[in-house]
Amino acid sequence: MNTIINFQHLKQSIKKNAYTSLYSNSTFNIQHLKKYIKLYSPVSCLLIPISLFLLLLISTTSIAQKDSDFYSRSTGKLPSLAYSMGEDRLGSPKMGYIDSGILFHIVDSTDTWYKVKLSNNRNGFIDKKYTTPLLAFTPKSNYYSGTITAKGTDSCYDIINVALEERLPYKAWMETNPSIIKLEIYGVHTNTNWITQFNTLKEVKDIYYNQVEEDVMQVTIHLKHSQQWGYTLTYAGNHLLLKIKRQPSVLLLNKMTIAIDAGHGGTNGGAEGGKTHIAEKDLTLIYAKVLQQAFKKLGIKTIMTRTADTTVEMKDRILTMQQKNPDFLISLHFNSSTSDTVKGSSTYYKHIGFRPLSQTILKRMLELKMNEYGNVGNFNFGLNAPTDFVNCLLEVGFLSNPEEEKRLVNPLFQKRVAQQIIKGINDWLLQCK
Ligand SMILES: [Zn+2]
Repeated sequence: MNTIINFQHLKQSIKKNAYTSLYSNSTFNIQHLKKYIKLYSPVSCLLIPISLFLLLLISTTSIAQKDSDFYSRSTGKLPSLAYSMGEDRLGSPKMGYIDSGILFHIVDSTDTWYKVKLSNNRNGFIDKKYTTPLLAFTPKSNYYSGTITAKGTDSCYDIINVALEERLPYKAWMETNPSIIKLEIYGVHTNTNWITQFNTLKEVKDIYYNQVEEDVMQVTIHLKHSQQWGYTLTYAGNHLLLKIKRQPSVLLLNKMTIAIDAGHGGTNGGAEGGKTHIAEKDLTLIYAKVLQQAFKKLGIKTIMTRTADTTVEMKDRILTMQQKNPDFLISLHFNSSTSDTVKGSSTYYKHIGFRPLSQTILKRMLELKMNEYGNVGNFNFGLNAPTDFVNCLLEVGFLSNPEEEKRLVNPLFQKRVAQQIIKGINDWLLQCK
């Protein structure tokens, strides 16, 4: 279950996350004030309010300085930047995952977020738990970019190496028709006069950059194939590395390594069948195993995010998949609505370059006489977020719709769904040129 946005929760989150610098300062002050009152209770009524006001003013100023306008570095498990503090139940809108050790200028804060200045005109938000404040750090007045070197590796990657003077924040995104990866580096002044491209490059066609703002460098990478197979951004020292996955040389299903994600699990039950009361987590595992068997029969290598009723955190699923490096990932879920008449299959993607797989799978699902609930983009689901490999979330049908629930729990239907997914993948591979 992923698609029903709880707007009440959204409102509460926005309220909760509204800037509260002043509020948190006054909470802090109340404790001080109480102590102050105890100490000075015999003092005249007039002096107390004046003194309290002065104390409030002093401590407000000191806290405001402490909680903004300082430098910090990213840290922790899979840190990410967000576009805003808005939040639905799948979290805030991600700008992207970032590496650790990246320098941020903190300009404001709430209880849980820091607002960070990415460049003169751009801001972002980072969860406080993903930063470590730097004590007495003085940044350089300007950071410059150096040479860009692009080389192919012996494995399945082309690597673009951008020399920088500091681990600066970045964002990358995909574009299609033509197939492009755009990389923006923030807080950098360009001084790149060499872009060396080696003959070992197999996926990268062209690289160039533009200084789109005084302190924003935008690198454009044209790819040879229309299908994007993913990319990973990391720092090695102060060099930003963009690892671009090449299209596999043989586009046959049995040459692929496919990851299957059985949604939910363990303490995370997901939706529930209206009639059978089957838990979504149990049904996703059944479907994942049926799909795995169908893949195995075709000689396809599979990777499972879970094989039993266990709790596997979303971040752990992502980190494991980044490490195991599948060609693509299919995440299986079942939908639910407060209205039992809502029904249908739907597929989801976040990055536009990964859309085609979600389209071919949905098309094949509709052959099972399933209603179309839609192909949803920019989706904020955890396993749609990685850019490292192609991924697609399939919400097979609605557990809250009695007619669909009956079909979903039928073992024969489960096998048919597996066959339709395979057909959808085949259609997609055929259209990858
Ligand atoms: Zn779900």
